[in-house]
Amino acid sequence: MWNVLQETALTTVELQQTTDIFSWRWGTNGAFSSSSAYKAMFIGETSIPGAKEPWKTRAPNNCRFFFWTLLHGRCWTAARLQKHELQDSNLCALCSQECEHLDHLFMSCVYSREIWFKVMRRWSSPNMAPTSHDRLLRLVATCAQARCQEDAQVF
Ligand SMILES: [Zn+2]
Repeated sequence: MWNVLQETALTTVELQQTTDIFSWRWGTNGAFSSSSAYKAMFIGETSIPGAKEPWKTRAPNNCRFFFWTLLHGRCWTAARLQKHELQDSNLCALCSQECEHLDHLFMSCVYSREIWFKVMRRWSSPNMAPTSHDRLLRLVATCAQARCQEDAQVF
């Protein structure tokens, strides 16, 4: 393998006796700057739809962070704990009837449905409780948009 590599790749490289030149490909005209390094960190990043909305709400920071982990599927549910061999049972801690994964815990569990119903009834829309991940995102986006409109009225 080494012989093949030497014959093909290394024979085409020609070394010269000139001084080396440092070139930063993410900056303008090859010059390094900390701002270009910061921007380079985000090259190729992917965004999750709805991941920015929680940060626009008036919710406390721990709630915002919790919702952010929910959107990224990183909440420590019983199913996830069992998957990582940190817990024996994956049953829902609220109803003890089904596997506690995110969708069950936040949308289909009978206890969660009751909480959603009470919360949404306060907003005069009891039938708007989220039944899917997309509806949950839309609900948060609506709350964030309402906050932006309130802020616009204040200023
Ligand atoms: Zn449950």
